[in-house]
Amino acid sequence: MDSIQSHPIITIVGRPNVGKSTLFNRLVGQRRSIVHDRPGITRDRIFALAPLQKGQVWLVDTGGLGNPEGGALADVVNQQVDQAVEEANLLLFLLDGREGLTALDEEIAAYLRKRGKPMLAVVNKMDPAARKTSSEEFFKLGFDPLLEVSAEHNSGIDALRESIESQFSSNPAFEISAAERRNVTASLAFLGRPNVGKSSLINAILKEPRVAVSDAPGTTRDVVDTFLETGEGTFTLLDTAGLRRKTKVTDEIEAVSAIRALRAIGRCDVAVLVLDAADQMTTQDERIGGAVVEQGCGLLVAANKWDLVKDSESSRHEFREELYEKAPFLRFAAVRFVSAKTGLGVQSILKDAKRIRERKAKIFTPQELDPEFDDLAQYSPGGKAGYKLRLHSLTQAQERLPTFFVWCNDPRWATPEYERFWENELTLRLKLEGIPIRVIFRRKPTRGRNVSSAKGRPRTKAPGR
Ligand code: GDP
Ligand code: GDP
Repeated sequence: MDSIQSHPIITIVGRPNVGKSTLFNRLVGQRRSIVHDRPGITRDRIFALAPLQKGQVWLVDTGGLGNPEGGALADVVNQQVDQAVEEANLLLFLLDGREGLTALDEEIAAYLRKRGKPMLAVVNKMDPAARKTSSEEFFKLGFDPLLEVSAEHNSGIDALRESIESQFSSNPAFEISAAERRNVTASLAFLGRPNVGKSSLINAILKEPRVAVSDAPGTTRDVVDTFLETGEGTFTLLDTAGLRRKTKVTDEIEAVSAIRALRAIGRCDVAVLVLDAADQMTTQDERIGGAVVEQGCGLLVAANKWDLVKDSESSRHEFREELYEKAPFLRFAAVRFVSAKTGLGVQSILKDAKRIRERKAKIFTPQELDPEFDDLAQYSPGGKAGYKLRLHSLTQAQERLPTFFVWCNDPRWATPEYERFWENELTLRLKLEGIPIRVIFRRKPTRGRNVSSAKGRPRTKAPGR
């Protein structure tokens, strides 16, 4: 459970139409993941986890950062792209082997070189079937090595993956510091758009009586860590706004705060997505939420500045409903109404985080699951004889995130609504709020048939139940 790590951030840069988003999709692949399986997940992705041989990396497509079809450096490298480049651990500079080297490529190359980041130059559209195009002219740019790929035809991609991987095993910036995983009760990352109150919330937590703040030996380049001891335990608070203060970037751009969040998400048990109570959830918030789900950490949504809202059951209900409507895939989140200004709800953030970390790692025993099963199995979705769901038992699968199998006669009769019902009920009953659990209906193997996989096999029900 504690194999949490920060994945390196790899950013694809290049002029329009060289194939950035094609390469992005190729490297991310068509994995079925918990993210893609969730209803309503944002399609508008500029970053995603991409699998390599030994681990995963966050891949960022700067083509999605509002880069227009323009032909000048200023169009391609706008302020958003500039800040995204700053956040990267490695740049993939993409070129177009069919069109050949252009003046704009040379300008971008000069710009990227000035940034002094580790970089791989990649010539795309070197299609296997096409008349042999040559990448020779690109050597003029002075990049070595120069990789050749065809994103569309999936050629050279494995070699590219290997090159990416070799970059981060030889570059200490990519190494995951074991010292970062301290023996803490929980680590919390405060994420969200600029000015929603992330730093204020951290300060409010630190103002609580019975909180002792230790020196911050783990302060990293990216986020500012605070270690604190409370009656509830030892916590790490990761402030993703801290860097901004330090480098005096006054005009922080939302998309970039989302990219920066990626690194903190890799290091936390619980992401605290801070929203301004007066605002709607934005695309950036959705992107952060999507990354939290993809990374598999717990999620607490903090509706901050609640002091500015007329507090009532109905205003809370309304806020929740709006959130669920905008981002149904975040329905599992624990939503809390807080104010850094008045202290409302601030104390419970650490308690929630502690519970989320504990419950996320918990393996439930049959003694804990059976009564819930017996209770919930009474609620059947109905159906005609022969087309009716019959439930058999409930087990927990060995997965990184709590995943439950409901064994039944035929999973086809379990409607998505019915699955959601189980998800919601189990979340409540097993105190899993804030954890993206999964409930999967499985056909119970028929007696006598050879069941090859022992994993997730249904238990035999004790007689008399
Ligand atoms: P972006 O603007 O850099 O994100 O470029 P896109 O990914 O949208 O690709 C631009 C065009 O190049 C699209 O028509 C792609 O189908 C095409 N393309 C991308 N990769 C390849 C490739 O490897 N070979 C060929 N022939 N075309 C490609
Ligand atoms: P960050 O960029 O997300 O770290 O946001 P800050 O913590 O810097 O806060 C941005 C602004 O919102 C500041 O002017 C804060 O005083 C204000 N603010 C933060 N939390 C609250 C709150 O709970 N209530 C009110 N009324 N204002 C707040």
